[in-house]
Formats: sequence, C-alpha cells, structure tokens
Amino acid sequence: MRKRSCFTCKSLEEEHRFLETQEAAWLKKETGERNVDGFMVCMAPLNDEGKQCRNLRTYFTEKPFREPLRLPEPS
Ligand SMILES: [Zn+2]
Repeated sequence: MRKRSCFTCKSLEEEHRFLETQEAAWLKKETGERNVDGFMVCMAPLNDEGKQCRNLRTYFTEKPFREPLRLPEPS
C-alpha cells in the first residue's frame, strides 16, 4: 500500500483522514472545486499543545496545490 506522507510536516506516518462534511464544504468554497472527495487532512501533531498539521492532500497527490493549503482549526 502506498504511503501517505505529508509534504508540509514531512511526516512519514499515515496519519491522514478523509474530510468531514463541513470541512469538505469549506474546501469546495476555497478552491472552487465541485468534487473534493479524494482529499485528506494530515493529523500529525505539530507541537505539544495537540495542534495538528491539517495540511491537505489527495490520496494520490502529496502536493495538489501550488502552495500548501491547511484546513482551518475548528471554531
Ligand atoms: Zn502534515
């Protein structure tokens, strides 16, 4: 199985999950894409406070955007 590493935090772990409904809605708005089903968010911890990387990738593409795009923190 292909490893889902993260370009932004260089995580080699497969700590990615698919987007929740409201996250997918945000990404659609942000990118103008109509279908964001393949997108995944990196869950690698960035610091001791439990902050996560939240970098977005697709299952097959580590760098789907020109600049890394991070999912906003839940409010
Ligand atoms: Zn990451």
